[in-house]
Amino acid sequence: MTDSVIVRAFHGERHDHSGCIQDALAVAERVCAERGVRLTKLRRRVLELVWQSHRPQKAYDLLDLLRDENQRAAPPTVYRALEFLHDEGLIHRIESLNAFIGCGDPTQPHGGQFLICRHCGAIAELSDSQINELMDAKAAELGFQVRRRTVELEGECPDCSGRSGAGT
Ligand SMILES: [Zn+2]
Ligand SMILES: [Zn+2]
Ligand SMILES: [Zn+2]
Repeated sequence: MTDSVIVRAFHGERHDHSGCIQDALAVAERVCAERGVRLTKLRRRVLELVWQSHRPQKAYDLLDLLRDENQRAAPPTVYRALEFLHDEGLIHRIESLNAFIGCGDPTQPHGGQFLICRHCGAIAELSDSQINELMDAKAAELGFQVRRRTVELEGECPDCSGRSGAGT
């Protein structure tokens, strides 16, 4: 397969993140229009907040931010918006952190593999079918059928490993 394996790389601290947010929102609008589902104002805003950085966002933090700007953002409304974004593959749930991260390429459904920096919290995403096939094959040897794959690796991103290598 030749499709790209890196859905989202580590960007480093000094990139222009407003570009990431704009791209993510533009792709979300296109994907929703193609699928005939509605990216309401609230859903769009929640997605924008999930994308506020490359770190995962917890639902209750998003709720706090929305409350600050709109008193009517009741928890069920926000949870439903997150559910919608998750169902459409626009965000992923990071199970080990119970938090959400924006998907780098929501045009096709995929179960990602996530690299989580233990220092700065940045997350990169891979979608490598070889990894999935290998896991499925190993599971099948045990007569196990895989229904959901959660691959979350913890470590150090290039920024942070460079820093600790410099002795700071
Ligand atoms: Zn960015
Ligand atoms: Zn993804
Ligand atoms: Zn880091």
